[in-house]
Amino acid sequence: MGREQLVFEIAAELGFDLCGIAPLAPPPDAQRFQSWLDQGRHGSMRWLEVDAERILDPRKILKQPGSMVVLGLAQSRPSVELQGGGRVARYAAGRDYHNVLAHKLRKFSKRLERAGLGGMQRRIVDAGPVLERSHARVAGVGFSSKAANLLHPRFGPYFFLSELLLSHELEPTAAQAAGSCGTCTACLDACPTHAIVAPGEVDARRCISYLTIEHKGPVDPVLRDKIGTWAFGCDVCSEVCPWAAKAPDLSHRFGHHRAVAELGLVEWLEAGEAFGELFHPSPTDRPGREGVARNAAIALSGAPSERGRGALLKALSFDPSQVVREAAAWSLAKAHAKDDGVSAALERAATAEADPAVKAAILEWRGRST
Ligand code: SF4
Ligand code: SF4
Repeated sequence: MGREQLVFEIAAELGFDLCGIAPLAPPPDAQRFQSWLDQGRHGSMRWLEVDAERILDPRKILKQPGSMVVLGLAQSRPSVELQGGGRVARYAAGRDYHNVLAHKLRKFSKRLERAGLGGMQRRIVDAGPVLERSHARVAGVGFSSKAANLLHPRFGPYFFLSELLLSHELEPTAAQAAGSCGTCTACLDACPTHAIVAPGEVDARRCISYLTIEHKGPVDPVLRDKIGTWAFGCDVCSEVCPWAAKAPDLSHRFGHHRAVAELGLVEWLEAGEAFGELFHPSPTDRPGREGVARNAAIALSGAPSERGRGALLKALSFDPSQVVREAAAWSLAKAHAKDDGVSAALERAATAEADPAVKAAILEWRGRST
């Protein structure tokens, strides 16, 4: 059996759904990535700048001739909603996929070693320094979409990628994934924040996934108005995609973490010191306590309830984070301005607020709502 076939067989035995081999060379989208960075479309994800040299050329990671094996693990599941409203991106609903992928990838690399494909190896999962979708396309794992993700004919956009760089020059996969966006523009039309600024190009600074996961601090009020009930990530461009419609339900693979299965937006807002215990290990812990509470406060404006109103009033007065207090004021003014006492509570909070920026924001939100 050829070495390439051996790689595919071991990947399949370990439960990877997709596997392809790309040359260890700069990805075809290197230039595009550089221009995206130059335009500042990565927002505050500064590690992309810091790592740019390696991202643009994976030979700088392995430092010797070799290949890149790209592996895909499908994660499709029905849409996910927190108790009482609040949406979470499907990929983040279960146990931490980083751990699952890292474990599988380790096993894969050990199996290759035992099969005579040892030597130098580098394992990369998720936020590692490679343009993984670009390499994955070359490896035939999927095809590029207008939503800037990778699509697979069977799993649509719902699969995780990981990569193994190894010091063996394997034959790159010739077969390419069949499919294309054709004339469809559903994702561009549906994106709530118009973050898909051109086919295949997302301005992260406008994207709800970035705003609710990577972005620190207050969310631009113009954009936060469009977030709706998304508390972590956003699946809109995936859900409207015709390629996603037939993806199988694989919820059992990652299960449901209790931060998603048992909690609602109110509990996300009020997690406080229990945050680590409630959210770890789950992808939803990425924004940290403050980010999760901010997201919950914003999402509560899209899923208003009596409990939510009470939690927002409490956060407005007592949350230690100015980002959360300001988000709570905004949400109350948007969803509950006509409720008894909310306007007065906003005024009292503005009087008591020590942070001048938050004070000004509270007065602004209150002013807009009266
Ligand atoms: S994830 Fe949401 S906000 Fe981001 S590009 Fe897709 S639809 Fe737009
Ligand atoms: S929604 Fe349409 S345009 Fe967007 S990624 Fe899917 S097929 Fe492509």
